[in-house]
Amino acid sequence: MITVVHPGAKVSLRDLPTDARNGYSGKDDPQAIEDLAKLLARLSELQERLMAGAKQSLLVVLQAMDAAGKDGVLRKVAGPLDSRGVSVYSFKAPAGEEAGHDYLWRVHARCPRKGELTLFNRSHYEDVLVVRVLDLVPKARWSRRFDHINAFEEMLHDEGTRVVKIFLHISKAEQGRRLQERLDIPEKNWKFDPRDLDMRAKWDDFQEAYEDCFERTSTQHAPWHIVSADRKWARDIAVARLLVETLEDMDPQYPEPNYDPKAIKILP
Ligand code: ATP
Ligand code: MG
Repeated sequence: MITVVHPGAKVSLRDLPTDARNGYSGKDDPQAIEDLAKLLARLSELQERLMAGAKQSLLVVLQAMDAAGKDGVLRKVAGPLDSRGVSVYSFKAPAGEEAGHDYLWRVHARCPRKGELTLFNRSHYEDVLVVRVLDLVPKARWSRRFDHINAFEEMLHDEGTRVVKIFLHISKAEQGRRLQERLDIPEKNWKFDPRDLDMRAKWDDFQEAYEDCFERTSTQHAPWHIVSADRKWARDIAVARLLVETLEDMDPQYPEPNYDPKAIKILP
């Protein structure tokens, strides 16, 4: 299920489902398998048109608690696309040169060029989320950032970049299962970071920070989409459908050739 946050609306995350099945019986439901395949094929077509037309851009912002599936979405939904026109960027805590600039500097530099589809794994939203929960900058500073972010995204929109913001909504219990799995399965050990447990201990603070963030930064041109994400297969279908609908609305077109294809004959 996807909940679109209307500008200024209050959100209560605990009232939104994390485990929606979207009408399918389960991950082996033939309809679910067929729908995902069709959506991914359609997404590939539309992305090729976006890339070939090189007139508009699409920026997908992925935010979530640890282990909510940002990497899974990138692999399953963005993975099959034409890598020439797709870029993924994962934002970590700012370091080196990044830390010497304002918080939007590194973000703006990674925004898509014309024709490109860029996916952000975390984003400028960390600067009003983790920064707030861990008290990394004073409230007087981070609380002014909502307005900066809205103005920044409005500028991107006005200049031809569609901004789609997605929050993968999982339950604390499901996060617990996934983190435990990262400890139990040797091949998944690399995904575990002991610091994830410090963040998990602040679960309620993060949920509250997210709720305020949705209320302050869901705008007409760049609303937040809250996606039920406990069931990975349902999450992938929901995100794929959202991206297809967004691109259909953008309706990118192949460029007109700058020659007459009918006037040229190569084979006799
Ligand atoms: P996974 O869910 O697979 O662990 P991840 O996105 O958590 O992926 P990590 O490398 O584990 O990736 O973590 C990146 C860390 O960087 C996160 O804890 C995030 O909160 C932090 N981070 C990102 N941007 C900022 C920022 N602007 N200020 C402070 N911390 C940030
Ligand atoms: Mg992490």
